[in-house]
Amino acid sequence: MLKGKVAIITGSGRGIGKAIAMKLASYGANIVINDIPSSTDADVTCEEIKAMGVDSIVVKGDVRNKEDVEKLISETMDKFGKIDIFVNNAGITRDGLMIRMSEDDWDLVMDINLKGAFNCIKAVARPMMKQRSGAIVNIASIVGVMGNAGQANYVASKAGLIGLTKTTAKEFASRGIRCNAVAPGFIRSAMTDVLSDDVKQKYFDAIPLGKFGETENIADVVAFLASDMSKYVTGQVINVDGGLVM
Ligand code: NAP
Repeated sequence: MLKGKVAIITGSGRGIGKAIAMKLASYGANIVINDIPSSTDADVTCEEIKAMGVDSIVVKGDVRNKEDVEKLISETMDKFGKIDIFVNNAGITRDGLMIRMSEDDWDLVMDINLKGAFNCIKAVARPMMKQRSGAIVNIASIVGVMGNAGQANYVASKAGLIGLTKTTAKEFASRGIRCNAVAPGFIRSAMTDVLSDDVKQKYFDAIPLGKFGETENIADVVAFLASDMSKYVTGQVINVDGGLVM
C-alpha cells in the first residue's frame, strides 16, 4: 500500500509514534524516525524497522526548534529525495487544574504540541508543494474536541491542532497536499500509564467498546490517511476511541 513512499514521524522512538512508524514500514514505506536529541529509543526503533526490509534513518531534534525541523527535512531530502508522508505525533502533557497551572507548563505544552506541528508543516510544505503531493497527519486527541478538567494547556494545544489541520487542508489542497487529524481516546502508552487508577476506571467505564485502545489502533487509521485509500479525504478529524466520543 505504501511501497517506496517516504514517511517522517515526529516523536517516534516509542509509544504511538513508534507504532505508526512500524505500521507504515509494514506497508513498505521508508521511515525517518525523529525524537528528542537525548532519545536512545529512536536508534532501537530504527534498527527494528530496517529489519523489516525497508530503509530507515534517525534525525533527532526538538520540534520546537526551527533549525532542528529544517535539518529533519533537509536530511530526509538528501537521503530519499522526497517526502510523501509527515506525521505530527510528538506531544507531551503537564496536567493540573487551571487555577494552579504555571505559565511555564502552559508554554511548554503549547510549544511542543502546537507550535512544533506548525514548524513542521511549514517546513515540509515546501518539498510537498514542489512534488504537488503529500499527506500530513496530525495526532490530536479527543479532549481537544470535548475539553477535559485538569488539562487546559493540553486541550488547548490539541484543539488548536485540529484548527491547524483544517487550515492546512484548505491552504494546500490545490497543491495536491492533504491534511487530516486522528484524535485518540485512551490509548495504553507511557502517557496514560501515569494516570491514577481512579481516572483510568472512569475512562474505562465510559468506553462503549469496553477496552482501552492500543497504539496499533491509531497506527491503522494513520496508515489509511497516509495512503491513497483516503485520496478524497482532507481536513477531517477521525476519533479512534472505542466510541468514547460520539
Ligand atoms: P509518549 O509515549 O510520551 O511518546 C511521545 C513521544 O514524543 C516520545 O518519544 C517523546 O520523546 C517525543 N517528544 C516529546 N517532546 C518532543 C519534542 N519536543 N520533539 C520531538 N519529540 C518529542 O506518548 P504517546 O502516548 O505515544 O503520545 C503520542 C501522541 O499521541 C501525542 O501527541 C499525544 O498527545 C497523543 N495522544 C495520546 C493519547 C494516549 O492515550 N496515549 C491520547 C490522545 C492523544 P521522549 O519521551 O524521549 O521525551
